[in-house]
Amino acid sequence: MSLIVMKFGGSSVGSTERMQRVARRIADYREAGNDVVVVVSAMGDTTDELIDQSKLLNANPPAREMDMLLTVGEQISVALLSMTIDSLGFKAKSLTGWQAGIETEDVHGKARITDIEPKRIFEAIESGYAVIVAGFQGATDGGEITTLGRGGSDTTAVALAAAIKADVCEIYTDVDGIYSTDPRIVKCARKLDEISYDEMLELANLGAAVLHPRAVEYAKNYNVKLVVRSSFTQNEGTSVKEEAVMEQGMVVRGIAYDKNVARISILGVEDVPGVLANVFGALASSGIDVDIIVQSGTMEGKADFAFTVSLSDKDRAIAVVESIRGDVPYREVTSEENLVKVSIVGAGMVSNPGVAAKMFKAIYDLGISIKMVTTSEIRLSVIIAAEPAQAVVRALHSAYGLDTAEQAFVGGPQDRR
Ligand code: ASP
Ligand code: MG
Repeated sequence: MSLIVMKFGGSSVGSTERMQRVARRIADYREAGNDVVVVVSAMGDTTDELIDQSKLLNANPPAREMDMLLTVGEQISVALLSMTIDSLGFKAKSLTGWQAGIETEDVHGKARITDIEPKRIFEAIESGYAVIVAGFQGATDGGEITTLGRGGSDTTAVALAAAIKADVCEIYTDVDGIYSTDPRIVKCARKLDEISYDEMLELANLGAAVLHPRAVEYAKNYNVKLVVRSSFTQNEGTSVKEEAVMEQGMVVRGIAYDKNVARISILGVEDVPGVLANVFGALASSGIDVDIIVQSGTMEGKADFAFTVSLSDKDRAIAVVESIRGDVPYREVTSEENLVKVSIVGAGMVSNPGVAAKMFKAIYDLGISIKMVTTSEIRLSVIIAAEPAQAVVRALHSAYGLDTAEQAFVGGPQDRR
């Protein structure tokens, strides 16, 4: 008998029939003698629809009212799911985030969880209920309702699992696990049996949106055993944990692909001390995340440098660079879109000098030029033009021995917000 947290994404509960399927799964776990705490997202596209609806009435709605609105989506799910479980003859009790004891910081739209007081959850479990908790929401100390940011139900599930010391936190989605790369790009992508938190974090941050990065961070910090699996099949899924076994002879676990990049170049910068501190200080205080930074050689006291930001931050980043021209004189600022960041990720990469060379060679063989490179202990990323990027992902997947003989399972509409 175990204590299990199960999380179902929006597409897993997107229709009456899917809701029934989820309820059946929960009932089966109860029947087998397990205690369960279930976290659900809003059904299907509910959150997006609520956002659209709000915009019709106010183009810039107050963040507090937005949270009041969006939390309704998850509350519909928990009530309907509990009723469905009840109809199968099992006891179920729905709780909102704040009823479940989830306390957050005093921020609307992307609050972090500060504390969980799971008293009511334990009481309900003791009384024989499956406990169904609304994902993505909590409340402040002062009783204000907050949300955790898009995709935040994963975080609710992991945080609850840590707080109640669950044996495992199962994340049910519409793909049957974490893949070595996007199966829609590479047909023979492989489903991974296991992956480490650190590798998953790199993949999650790099656009493999199956798991929310903050949830993975949380799982790592509290050592929560995570399993990502399909709500449509009984397949085993992928375990995410501290140390994951690498198949014999493999160094790369997966390949990520991120279209959300823009490059900004600042040309002919006066090469005086403090230039970088100035530029990146200004970007940081505007809340803009900078990823790759490259400074090229200095010529006649002038330097060029380039950095990448997410596409949605591009215009703001240019405005910031223009605003500090007085402090940091430069000739011009330019930007480039239609880029992709392709990354290979694997815990064994550091100790293997040939890994980078193989990547560069595979890309060179396709006649594609690399615009920027960056590395971390377990990842190597290149920025290339968007158009040939899928071919690059395929070539790398095969170069690192990741291809399988079978075609990957591709589920329904991806459960990615
Ligand atoms: N319903 C919220 C969203 O669509 C939270 C979630 O699905 O995790 O972002
Ligand atoms: Mg989701």
